[in-house]
Amino acid sequence: MVVEKDVLDSVCSYCLLDKEPSELKRCVACKVARYCSLVCQKADWKLIHKSECPILCKLPGVPPTPTRALYQYLLRYPKAGNELDAWSAGLEHHVTDLKKDTKRWDEMVLQSRAAVDFSKSAPSKVEMVTRLLGIMATNAFRATLPDDSPIGLCFEPALALVNHSCSPNAFVMFDGRKVSLRALEHIEKGDEVFISYIDSTQGREIRRKELQQRYFFQCNCEKCTQDYSPYQAFQRAGLINPSKIDALLDRQALDDHATTRIPTMRQMSEDIEGFDRASCKASLLLDCSRGAELQDERLKLLREAHVELTPFRTHEVFAVPPYPTILDEIYLTFVDNERLAAALVVLLFIFFNCDVYNWPKSTHPARVTRLFTIVRLLKYVASLEPTVLVESLAPVPKELLSRLDYISTAHVLITIMLELGPLSHGEGTTFMAQIREEMVDVEEVQRLRGVNVDMLKAGGTFNDLRSLSKYAFDVIEMQKVQKNGHTADIA
Ligand SMILES: [Zn+2]
Ligand SMILES: [Zn+2]
Ligand SMILES: [Zn+2]
Repeated sequence: MVVEKDVLDSVCSYCLLDKEPSELKRCVACKVARYCSLVCQKADWKLIHKSECPILCKLPGVPPTPTRALYQYLLRYPKAGNELDAWSAGLEHHVTDLKKDTKRWDEMVLQSRAAVDFSKSAPSKVEMVTRLLGIMATNAFRATLPDDSPIGLCFEPALALVNHSCSPNAFVMFDGRKVSLRALEHIEKGDEVFISYIDSTQGREIRRKELQQRYFFQCNCEKCTQDYSPYQAFQRAGLINPSKIDALLDRQALDDHATTRIPTMRQMSEDIEGFDRASCKASLLLDCSRGAELQDERLKLLREAHVELTPFRTHEVFAVPPYPTILDEIYLTFVDNERLAAALVVLLFIFFNCDVYNWPKSTHPARVTRLFTIVRLLKYVASLEPTVLVESLAPVPKELLSRLDYISTAHVLITIMLELGPLSHGEGTTFMAQIREEMVDVEEVQRLRGVNVDMLKAGGTFNDLRSLSKYAFDVIEMQKVQKNGHTADIA
């Protein structure tokens, strides 16, 4: 497990938990590794830093993450360069495929030479080490925080044996230095375990391209061969007999599904060209927005992309790519711009209309993490002066905004998360600790307000949030492309 170069100053090099930069102490010798405690520093010293520190001291900068991973591996397993040990022997190295991309291959040879050099391995090992890098390139995992931001590279050969499916029945979860393989549903003994190597919510062509380029195979899962829409995949996922919690969270989706979605998709297939055109234009604008330097320019392009998707909107098929991605980027732009009330409304819309279908299990970690973000945004909105809130969400009726009890809503969501979290992230994880902290915090606020928790009704909560989410498009259109005037003040 190696910390990603870009986050070295905010992640402990041993336990891989993210911290405030001021909470981490640098190794006085190399000034590269940072630790949250003496315990972590000592453990890392023993594990690898004792041999790595002298290398880092000599170098003018920090080497790329794959190079670091590679020489750390060589330092820890000196025999690995002679012949691939049993540990990694069962894994594909894809050298023939990798060589086809000359630029990438040259880069890999260079990284291998550097790793051989840094680890003082015999120069004759370069070829074997390049093969090892090939194994890492196609088998290592990106370690992430619950919000999916990358924090490191994890190479664990046993996990690397798990195959890919675009409708996986399991997932890999990172919690600091710990990595686990968790089930999304009941898996019978003898059934194959699948995880998704990529963002499986994207369209089939994008999924196939990415899997081919990065992992050198063509996916033949059911979702790919049948080219299922998110709505069909939702149906296949067996939510027809939902668990209690699925039913509570996805009631509307379940009701809508059979009566509206499937016929709509059939209708859509008759005008497939119109949808393809719209989605192509929107995707182009999305790409442009990623290159935009100014936030306002970015928001402008995203809103144009959103307008292009009008045919999707007319049919209310919001879970079909690229709609969810565009909404997600708009939401993130609002967060970056500190327009957090607007961000909440858009996120709620995504939660009810896209997430449900794209991750058709309420215990999916992406869904539970989303709930956590919603809780935090609700708490922020609760802290706003009512007039400021009404102003920043102008299209939403005043009555609705003042009727909602944001803290009680957050309270209900945390209660649900205490049930979902052990299934999605696991008991005893950092994430669960954060949920419990939020619970203590919200319970204290409720005690001061004199609100009786037992009176809360979860069903009502979701209806309220759904009503708020219905204003998402008005909020998107209304957010002026401007330098943040009063929004900055709120922050
Ligand atoms: Zn630590
Ligand atoms: Zn050091
Ligand atoms: Zn597939």
